[in-house]
Amino acid sequence: MLAAVEICREIGAAGAFKPYRSREVMPGSLGRSDMIDFIRNAVSTYFHPTSTCKMGHSPMCVVDHELKVHGLDGLRITDASIMPNVTSGNTNEPSVMIGEKLAELIRSK
Ligand SMILES: Cc1cc2nc3c(=O)[nH]c(=O)nc-3n(C[C@H](O)[C@H](O)[C@H](O)COP(=O)(O)OP(=O)(O)OC[C@H]3O[C@@H](n4cnc5c(N)ncnc54)[C@H](O)[C@@H]3O)c2cc1C
Repeated sequence: MLAAVEICREIGAAGAFKPYRSREVMPGSLGRSDMIDFIRNAVSTYFHPTSTCKMGHSPMCVVDHELKVHGLDGLRITDASIMPNVTSGNTNEPSVMIGEKLAELIRSK
């Protein structure tokens, strides 16, 4: 993230943007430890946390392809937590699709 902030500052300071900017508002040129503090205070989830109960079969996975929790009977998970990775678009619609897919799966049994 330090590198990402520096790249953004570099782009913002580029000559090509001179006609469009006056000054850098934040974070400004900070030392490493102040920049780390700035990043820690500025980062957020951007409201799309996912994948804490990943679907799959590696040791880090929690549910199988039918969303059944590995090693437990009678428990499924159907929400954004089962996404193997965060989606490239927003997460609400994929969450609805996950729920509908499981409803369909249960109804078809
Ligand atoms: C501010 C904000 C803006 C967003 N904007 C968008 C957007 O514009 N577009 C988009 O695609 N996505 C958006 N998202 C993301 C989207 O809302 C989520 O990805 C989606 O709702 C995830 O669905 P979910 O079912 O996994 O979790 P949630 O929708 O969080 O549902 C979890 C449910 O479980 C309930 N619960 C929690 N603990 C318990 C418990 N112990 N017992 C019983 N019930 C419990 C909660 O009350 C809640 O109803 C936004 C998220 C936020 C926070």
